Amino acid sequence: MGNKGTGNESANRNEGTDGLPVSLESCLLDLRQAEETIRQQQRLLYQSEAQHNLLFDSLDEGFCTVEVLFDNADQSIDYRFLKVNGVFEAQIGIENPLGRTMREIAPEHEQYWFEMLGRIALTGKSQRLEHWANALERFYDIYAFRVGDPMDRQVAILFKDITARKRQEELQAYLLRLNDALRSLSDPIQVQDVVTHLAMEYLGVDRCYYCEIEEGNAIIRRDAFRADLPSVANVYPLSDFPILSTVINAGHPFVVFDAHTTELLDDRLRQLCLQTQAISFVDIPVIKDDSPCGILCVTCCEPRKWRKEEIELARETAERTWIAVEQARAAEALRESEENYRAIVNQSIAGILKIGLEGNMLFTNDQFCRMLGYEGAELLAMHVNRIVYPEDHERNAAAFHGLVSEGRAYEIEKRFVRKEGAIIWVNNHVSPIFNNKGEVDAAVIVSIDITRQKELERQKDEFIGIASHELKTPITSIKAYGQILAAMIDQSSVPPTFTQLLAKMNAQIDRLIKLIYSLLNTSRIAGNQLTLQLEPINLNGLLEEHVRQGQLTTSRHRITFIGEELPPVMADVERMGQVMDNLISNAIKYAPKGGDVIVRAESRGGRVRVSVRDFGVGIPKEAQEKIFDRFYRINDASAGGTSGIGLGLYICREIISRHQGQMAVESIPDEGSTFYFELPVYTERQ
Ligand code: ADP
Repeated sequence: MGNKGTGNESANRNEGTDGLPVSLESCLLDLRQAEETIRQQQRLLYQSEAQHNLLFDSLDEGFCTVEVLFDNADQSIDYRFLKVNGVFEAQIGIENPLGRTMREIAPEHEQYWFEMLGRIALTGKSQRLEHWANALERFYDIYAFRVGDPMDRQVAILFKDITARKRQEELQAYLLRLNDALRSLSDPIQVQDVVTHLAMEYLGVDRCYYCEIEEGNAIIRRDAFRADLPSVANVYPLSDFPILSTVINAGHPFVVFDAHTTELLDDRLRQLCLQTQAISFVDIPVIKDDSPCGILCVTCCEPRKWRKEEIELARETAERTWIAVEQARAAEALRESEENYRAIVNQSIAGILKIGLEGNMLFTNDQFCRMLGYEGAELLAMHVNRIVYPEDHERNAAAFHGLVSEGRAYEIEKRFVRKEGAIIWVNNHVSPIFNNKGEVDAAVIVSIDITRQKELERQKDEFIGIASHELKTPITSIKAYGQILAAMIDQSSVPPTFTQLLAKMNAQIDRLIKLIYSLLNTSRIAGNQLTLQLEPINLNGLLEEHVRQGQLTTSRHRITFIGEELPPVMADVERMGQVMDNLISNAIKYAPKGGDVIVRAESRGGRVRVSVRDFGVGIPKEAQEKIFDRFYRINDASAGGTSGIGLGLYICREIISRHQGQMAVESIPDEGSTFYFELPVYTERQ
């Protein structure tokens, strides 16, 4: 506008009608004004340019304007830098580019770039792209567009060095691929196979392998290699391959750019590398707990300047390989141990069953299925009560309750019902399984089929029953004859030995009768035929009487009775006498050196407790329950080879339990034992 205004004024003031200057003065004036106008325009131009420069210089992206150079056939062959901003040099790594051409600066710059810029200069079509520039060794994000007169063939380029981001992305992608590939692998050798191939492809190397270090050897199980190279999979003693020892000793990535020239190798190692065409390589030792576990090796047949990120990637790969190999190994070991365990469990002659706390079956072995005649799947869908014989439910539930509430293992003999309805006897050892909080989580049952033993036992009981019954009548007669004989003898007319022998015979007959009655009682108990004549009695009198009788049989022991006022109990006098005889005679028998025997009776809140204490050989802890079993005896020299058949305590406990009472023992070996039982006090309401 200023321009226009000045022009009009000059027309008005200095020009004549024919357009010529009217005077020199006015001419000079015009000249000065024109000069001023030019200066003003230059100032404006300068300001605008300065503003542009300021703008470009403040960009954090690189910016340059280039003139694209073409050959005669209009093929773009080079470009010249016309203008660059402040960060240009930092982003592109070229110093003083102005006025120079790219071919001058980097002759190996790829053709691709010249073609692209030529296309933009000719067509005016701008382009946005991310691309690798080999000569500059960088990745660029570029926006290029034509500027100025198309005839000038100038292109402006806005660009950013994204090498770090790109490498990070590539690394991430590689690690993702590696992880994906490794996730599904459970074989350590396969792991090595996959890793080496992936790393070889990604790093563009000629060979990649992972050696496992085991007992002084480097073992390469799988390797990846260029088609024209041989595999190096083998076992190498570390002592024969000093390069591996060198890597292990280095303890960190061992990087060789060029085996011909590196100072890292001595002559011997250099020769070795050259022979095996390992011209440049990165070897990563994997060291765990101060001992070497593996080495990952990536090798090229040409010199190579390994970048920091490549070394880092190899290190990361080595670490992941080790982890994956270890995991695969652990999984393999677990699988093997599971197979072993499965084989043992399934070949066991015992049935094995795992049940949840609700009684649901969780696991059965083959033998358990065979014992019950069910398929495994059928059992797993059932509650355990379906296979327990109904009469044993209550006993079973009580024992299981103890396991759940107190974590107590137990042993039980009970019956199972097979699928087709047959009943089998089993001996079950039931143990708790605890969770990691220490709570009972489930139970494992080891079950042995004892049906056959039970049948043999039944036959034995039957035999004992018949035999003792058949023996009872003749022996009773013999006892009577003996007593008659003893009464008939005129002691003065027979020699003294005769009388002594008769007395001994009668004593032996008494022992025999006792024995036969024990056997008879046992078979009665087994056949549930032990009958009781119950009546309310006071135990004090009975106890005193049996203490007195017991004392008659020994001169080495002193048997004392300590009683108190007792309430009555409901009892069979004869059976209770039998119990007391047994306990007192045991106290005498198992205290062979003599000493005190104390029989005590006391009333304890609704129960009467009777105990027999001796100071004899005592009973080891592990036998204290077993002595109440049929025919169980402790073979201990300290008892002085006492005679007996191990039925006394069994019968005693049965008698007491038929009286609704309990019998037990407390004992310390070499100090003595206290056998006791408790009976409920009799009340009128009973
Ligand atoms: P027996 O005396 O005929 O062997 P019992 O059933 O009476 O049969 O006893 C079983 C076992 O218990 C005995 O063999 C003995 O080892 C042990 N026993 C019983 N009473 C005592 C006791 N008072 N002191 C030590 N051991 C005993």
